[in-house]
Amino acid sequence: MKPLEALIGQLIDVQGPIDVATYMTFALGHPVYGYYRSGDPFGARGDFVTAPEISQVFGELVGLCLADYWLKLGCPARIALVECGPGRGTLMADLLRATRTVPGLHEALDLQLVEINSALTTRQAQAIRSVNSELAPAWHEAFDKVPASAPMFVIANEFLDALPIRQYVRDAQGLVERRIDKNDDGGLAFVVAGRSRLPDRPEFRELPAGTIVEVSPAREGFVDTLAARLNEVGGLALLIDYAHQAPADTALPAIATGDTLQGIYRGEKTSPLAHPGLADLTAQVDFAALRRTVRAAGARSWGPVGQGAFLRELGIELREQVLTKVTPDRASEVSAAIRRLIDPGEMGELFQVLALTPEGAPQPAGFDTPEPRG
Ligand code: SAH
Repeated sequence: MKPLEALIGQLIDVQGPIDVATYMTFALGHPVYGYYRSGDPFGARGDFVTAPEISQVFGELVGLCLADYWLKLGCPARIALVECGPGRGTLMADLLRATRTVPGLHEALDLQLVEINSALTTRQAQAIRSVNSELAPAWHEAFDKVPASAPMFVIANEFLDALPIRQYVRDAQGLVERRIDKNDDGGLAFVVAGRSRLPDRPEFRELPAGTIVEVSPAREGFVDTLAARLNEVGGLALLIDYAHQAPADTALPAIATGDTLQGIYRGEKTSPLAHPGLADLTAQVDFAALRRTVRAAGARSWGPVGQGAFLRELGIELREQVLTKVTPDRASEVSAAIRRLIDPGEMGELFQVLALTPEGAPQPAGFDTPEPRG
């Protein structure tokens, strides 16, 4: 048996079935065996390809959005540029390259990166150095460790989907927690056990028996801290992620239903319980819940808008024309990558972008699409 599976088994022996968030915390974040702690999850294992790895244009346009907002705020002399989960540093490098010609912007940057993977930290340092060797980034293991002394510009692409969720299942009394237990042959299996419940709400009674509901105290905690920081020091945050798809005919738009926890092992979908520590685990992001958190924290949210709409408004099609003209031999490759980012059947609508600012602050570029209700 793999070491992490054995450790999780021991934990279950001691305390009984564990909740999904505890399992995800072990499988992704265990200091030695966690998936995001060891090696390069992007590398030969090729577990996933993210937007910045698909095309340089993604990071360039995120950079444009941030630079535009810096100008809208009157070019503050110092800003903290924070990226949560920078991966290989590709987005940051593309963003920095694209904003190099904005007078005064790079001189104002104080780079702060939030990362738990030391192998990736090294790659991020190299990527940033290759664009601007004057910048001296600082790393932190959690967002709340980032100092808040200047306006903050925060980016997180595919960061929230790796933060732990909890799952609940509709039974006769309401919503009871879904947990993970050992099965007869020593592997792991989902169970509905124990008495942990979500506080009852009338709308829960309308859910069919067996429906799964996901909540993420970790994401909401992150967004709550982010909103409080922005209220304190000003700035902008862009959160980009695979959005929870509420069924179109749902009678209960305020509740995200369905099991979205997914494992990817060596590029293939797998049971989330099959390879703890070796598989990537993600769950779709309930942006409606995050908007409620932002509102409760007294900050302003913009969107979410589809990634396609966001990138179009920032001029992705113009950028495509320029790139295909300057590198004609790569034109079809460039265009195919851009289609992947913006087409509705690809990432264009599945991925959504939510912006946060303090209340009363200017509107960031890319958010002209009307906001969803609720
Ligand atoms: N933003 C990058 C990488 C996305 S993968 C891209 O778009 O390509 C998720 C990233 O978040 C990885 O860098 C991973 O190491 C980091 N990460 C995952 N969980 C984390 C946590 N709890 N705290 C900080 N970083 C985390």
